[in-house]
Amino acid sequence: MTIQQKIKDLRLELREHNYNYYVLDNATISDYEFDMKLKELQDLEEQHPEFYDSNSPTLRVGGEVTKNFNTVVHEHRMYSLDNSYSKEDLLDWEKRIKKLVDGDVFYTCELKYDGASISLTYENGNLLRAVTRGDGTQGDDVTTNIKTIKSVPLQLQGDFPPKFDIRGEIVLPFDGFNKMNEERLEAGEEPYRNPRNTASGSLKLQDSAEVAKRPLECLLYNITGRNLGFETQFESLERARQMGFKVPEAARLASSVDEVLEFISHWDVHRHDLPYETDGVVIKVNSLQQQEELGYTSKAPRWAMAYKFKAEQVSTRLNEITYQVGRTGAITPVANLEPVELAGTTVKRASLHNADQIEKLDIRERDEVFVEKGGEIIPKIIAVDLSKRPEDSKPTQYITHCPECQTELIRQEGDAKHYCPNYNGCNPQIVGRIQHYISRKAMDIEGLGGETVALLVNEGLISNYSDLYTLKKEDVLPLERMAEKSAENLIQGIAASKQIPFERVLFAIGIRYVGETVAKKLAKHYKNIDAIIEASVEDLIAVDEIGDRIAESVVEFFSSEENRMIVDEMKSYGLQLELSAEKLANQTDKLKGQSIVVSGVFETVSRTELKKMIEDNGGKVSSSISSKTNFLVAGDKMGPSKRTKAETLGVAIISESEFLSKLN
Ligand code: AMP
Ligand code: ZN
Repeated sequence: MTIQQKIKDLRLELREHNYNYYVLDNATISDYEFDMKLKELQDLEEQHPEFYDSNSPTLRVGGEVTKNFNTVVHEHRMYSLDNSYSKEDLLDWEKRIKKLVDGDVFYTCELKYDGASISLTYENGNLLRAVTRGDGTQGDDVTTNIKTIKSVPLQLQGDFPPKFDIRGEIVLPFDGFNKMNEERLEAGEEPYRNPRNTASGSLKLQDSAEVAKRPLECLLYNITGRNLGFETQFESLERARQMGFKVPEAARLASSVDEVLEFISHWDVHRHDLPYETDGVVIKVNSLQQQEELGYTSKAPRWAMAYKFKAEQVSTRLNEITYQVGRTGAITPVANLEPVELAGTTVKRASLHNADQIEKLDIRERDEVFVEKGGEIIPKIIAVDLSKRPEDSKPTQYITHCPECQTELIRQEGDAKHYCPNYNGCNPQIVGRIQHYISRKAMDIEGLGGETVALLVNEGLISNYSDLYTLKKEDVLPLERMAEKSAENLIQGIAASKQIPFERVLFAIGIRYVGETVAKKLAKHYKNIDAIIEASVEDLIAVDEIGDRIAESVVEFFSSEENRMIVDEMKSYGLQLELSAEKLANQTDKLKGQSIVVSGVFETVSRTELKKMIEDNGGKVSSSISSKTNFLVAGDKMGPSKRTKAETLGVAIISESEFLSKLN
């Protein structure tokens, strides 16, 4: 078999597995086998760039960075939908329709997925472009990001119209959303509020590799174009499925408003069993001929109607307001409720967010409150039933002192939250900080878990993360449930963490607002911890993508003598507090401040390597050419439109070898 054939077969096979797994939810090989095959294809593609394919399954992992998303005018406008809330509304709508069209009217009933709308354009079965709804007339080109969503077919199967747009919704299923939030909490970051905003925010991330990590899905509901070869909405859904799109199976045909209402009442209850959020039902006139006759108003099709579910509410008693202290010292008030059933789960707590929220709604202990589960995962209190307020009730006095260490709380201007400033003496802050330090994305210390950290702190064995490196087996053996073997593993795990690279150590020490990405940027720019300690707010702000808030937080962190002492101790224990020699050797400032576009396929290095070289030398990889582009590195098979654009804008085009000699 030729290499070309092998590559072709692997792409086909991987496409098939992707489809089985992400569209049909029915995997036929193990993740491991899949990864091995993907790796094989990646290697072959690297060795044989002449067989490059912009829709290869290997592109699902992302990597391209977009600085500014191009605006694209929709060929077919993306309309909004009219809303209805009752049977009467629907009957009125039916009356209006029947005045405008002849013959019987059938309806397709679908679920209304709550995410971010997207329009995908396919030409000859290949995904050409993905554009957000924007203002309906024009949106942003987010193709690179969309390609990382595995349920979006890059190449269609079976029969398909030569050119069409298909519309759908990008959603983030609850499972994936919750997992993302667990990780954020672990990193000391505020959790995302709801799946919808997170989904739409994801589409505009600059780094497509970040998008690839998010468990997004694309659910399709509408094909537009000419000569499509089908006559009804219902049929079009079936056809879309056959082409390889993910089209939920819930859709039903209805021949009357009563049948539509049956569909609505069924899903009003069962939507809670779905893995993603829905906020209603969309009813569409089934015949495309009739749709055309009905046309559009200035904002919505006359042939479709949304029916919004009511957010579910219950009333229950608020027993007590308690306060939690996070690892950054942030205080979160929590409403402890009389347990109550809501939207299929038992609710015992609701977040009160902050003092303002409590004051605004005048929420008090022993109040009867209305709790709602809307888009947010954690239910919220939306109002107080004043008619049931006890006579002797008094307004809530927000705490003034930390519930854990009794230190007086502070609240900075512009900050909604109160903080406990007792950074080094407040137990949940100490424990939380060390738990963050050992967590997977930080130092990833094997053999040590969150509970053990709490034990170690409470037993007085450690009071900050550098103390971990002083622990001996004999110290930890007396701890509850600590066997000989686990004690050994723990000590070994701690010792092994001395090899963790600098950027992760920088993330692990838990400077507020310094997440993984910022830590990487700082490490790369300053190269060692001493340079960061010496940097002023102004210096820090001058670093690309570091804002005031981060800069101030870094300076504040290192202005603490205690923190600097901990860093010194860490140095003496042999932790990596500077970039390794190997990393440094490959890094220069040669391309500092330059914005560079890479296009085509290359001979001596792969695209990924080339991009890494640009970044290591201080340059920035951008995915589209603009007047700000310094130069374009052109490989083989570069698209003609890129070349034209570079030429019209006067952007220099250099070859792979010219680029490489620039660096040497
Ligand atoms: P609205 O934003 O409330 O005007 O509702 C219109 C939006 O609902 C559309 O832009 C779509 O993004 C979304 N939507 C979700 N599910 C569907 C569906 N099954 N059919 C049509 N639109 C839908
Ligand atoms: Zn405290």
